[in-house]
Amino acid sequence: MKLLLHCCCGPCLFYPLTALRTKPFDITCLFYNPNIHPYMEYERRFEAFLQVAGSFSIPVLHEGGYGLTGWIKQMMQTAPALEYPARCSECYSMRLEFTARRTKEMGFDCFSTTLLYSRYQQHEAIRNLGMEAANRHGVNFVYQDFRHGWQQGIDMAVESGIYRQPYCGCIFSEGERYAKRAAKRFGRKV
Ligand code: SF4
Repeated sequence: MKLLLHCCCGPCLFYPLTALRTKPFDITCLFYNPNIHPYMEYERRFEAFLQVAGSFSIPVLHEGGYGLTGWIKQMMQTAPALEYPARCSECYSMRLEFTARRTKEMGFDCFSTTLLYSRYQQHEAIRNLGMEAANRHGVNFVYQDFRHGWQQGIDMAVESGIYRQPYCGCIFSEGERYAKRAAKRFGRKV
C-alpha cells in the first residue's frame, strides 16, 4: 500500500515513521504546513524534517511553501477561528484536506499524519477530520495513536540533535507561548 504521510515537523516524524515502517507501507513524506510562521522558522523546521526523513531514507514531497498569507485568509473565513482552540480545527482541516486531495491525485492508496503523535494537539479532532477528508476524496485514512511512542520519539529527536521547536507553529501560537513570560518579566499586561 502506498501511503502519503503528512509531516508537521521533524521531531514529530521519528515515532510515526518507526511505527509505520513495521507495516507493509510504501511511505512518502509530505511537508505541507502553511501554518508555520515566521519565514525563518518555516525554513528551520523544513530543514529538520529533511534530516529526519533522510535518516530513514524516505522520499519526500514539499508542497505549498511558506504560506502565511493563504493561511491567514482561510482562517479569517471561519471566525472565530483566530481564537485558540477553535482556529486549530480549521488549521488541521486545511492540511488534512490538502493531503487527502494529493493522495488521490498522485495515486497513493492512503494517507496519515504525524499530527497524531502530539500530546499537545486535539487528537480526536484530527482523527475525525482525517476520516472526513478521506471520505470526500475516496481514499483511506490510516489512523494510529502515535502518542503511545511519545517518549521514544522525544528521545530519538534529542539524540539526533535536530532543531526542536518551542511553539506550535502559527504566529498566534508564538505570541501565546511568549507573551505571558514577557508580561511577568517586564510587568506588562498580556
Ligand atoms: S496553534 Fe498550531 S494547530 Fe492551532 S492554529 Fe496555530 S499552528 Fe495551527
